[in-house]
Amino acid sequence: MNIQLENKVALVTGASRGIGAAIALTLGKCGATVIGTATSAAGVEKIEQTFKANNINGTAAVLDVANQQSVDDFFNQLAAANQTPIILVNNAGITRDNLMLRMKDDEWLDVIETNLNSVFRVTRACLKGMVKARFGRIINITSVVALSGNPGQVNYSAAKAGMIGFTKSLAREVGSRGITVNAVAPGLIVTDMTSELTEEHRNSMSKQTALGRFGEVKEIADTVAFLASDSAAYITGETINVNGGLYMA
Ligand code: NAP
Repeated sequence: MNIQLENKVALVTGASRGIGAAIALTLGKCGATVIGTATSAAGVEKIEQTFKANNINGTAAVLDVANQQSVDDFFNQLAAANQTPIILVNNAGITRDNLMLRMKDDEWLDVIETNLNSVFRVTRACLKGMVKARFGRIINITSVVALSGNPGQVNYSAAKAGMIGFTKSLAREVGSRGITVNAVAPGLIVTDMTSELTEEHRNSMSKQTALGRFGEVKEIADTVAFLASDSAAYITGETINVNGGLYMA
């Protein structure tokens, strides 16, 4: 499939590493003008280097999605530069795993703030521009554990399940404006996030996956590019599972 995203500005949160970096690269290769974000100046530099090396029309900026002031500052910068994202990929996310009996308040709150409240904040800031353009693609990166559950991740799976409810309700609100809202639920993907798992845990998880392996970041990015494209114009409120058969909803 030849995906054409020319003349479209795409915002990808958490584009410095892992899945977000692959999404930013793929959307850029499809012709979108990409704004990638990171939490540090080093992350911003990394994104800019990737864009330059791949001839991608794009910029990078610091954004902490867990902080309303940072979100306000970031969108003020975009407005000053006359940039209106009409493709939004809410990708930034963290884990703070612990068993429920031991889970601390900050482990719960940090994950809800970074993975769920952030989606509300960033999407709200983008929505007016999309309504004005009468076009929008909002793609939320949730997780297989939102559907399957996972011991040690009540915080993370609650936030990720919240993203799915958010996706469905917003899809109903804005469909008449030409805006689609979907979620992508990755299974186990090779990134920094999963590198924390022990070798033994990784082997056992691979065995539970129908395809017998972890996924690659590009496999998530390609699904996001499809949802951003004109070919996906009639898909909204949906959660696309990209998990190699780890969990079949
Ligand atoms: P990762 O390699 O750990 O990268 C996380 C990204 O999020 C980084 O770019 C990081 O920026 C950014 N980020 C973290 N906190 C942030 C904040 N407060 N504000 C803005 N950006 C922030 O993670 P990943 O594996 O690529 O995961 C990406 C998304 O996919 C997450 O939402 C994750 O929950 C989801 N997911 C991943 C897997 C998997 O197996 N890897 C499976 C299911 C779902 P910095 O570089 O600046 O820290």
